[in-house]
Amino acid sequence: MALQDYIRDIQDFPKQGVLFKDITPLLADPEASSFCVSELVRLTERQPIDKVVGIESRGFFFATLIAKELNAGFIPIRKAGKLPHTTLKQPYALEYGMDSLEIHEDAIKKGDKVLLHDDVLATGGTAKAACKLIEQLGGEIVQCNFLIELAFLKGAQKLRAYEIRSLLTY
Ligand code: AMP
Repeated sequence: MALQDYIRDIQDFPKQGVLFKDITPLLADPEASSFCVSELVRLTERQPIDKVVGIESRGFFFATLIAKELNAGFIPIRKAGKLPHTTLKQPYALEYGMDSLEIHEDAIKKGDKVLLHDDVLATGGTAKAACKLIEQLGGEIVQCNFLIELAFLKGAQKLRAYEIRSLLTY
């Protein structure tokens, strides 16, 4: 099955010059999305994983499904101010300005083996901030796993310390 057929390119969204990879056609197709989950699970090569961490918001869709397949827990990393309990915060640079991500401070235990998942790896700033949060809690990042890698933005260079896997590369 050609997963790229279920990814829609949206020119100039959310702003001029960005080619947005829209995964909603993939999510809408039960056969394609279950194939996608099995392919993302295959990327992990069945390494032991305790927690699957998904990044808000599009990372949540497949991270929960991967977690179910791996019999692992699902942990959300969210934008600042969204998680209700005590959090750890990590600022990161956007193209213009800063933003920050948060995780519940009791979400990961020291020594937990963690799979990080997001839909798209672009410049890598988001995933790098997520990795820092996981490591501050003592989690061991087994792999950073993406549906799509925009290789021309060189995000993998920011994540050199980790094993990076993606299903589709543009
Ligand atoms: P970055 O921090 O630059 O690697 O950006 C990654 C985050 O932004 C991910 O959570 C993606 O969902 C989103 N993102 C960045 N670029 C795109 C794109 N071209 N299409 C869809 N999502 C994107």
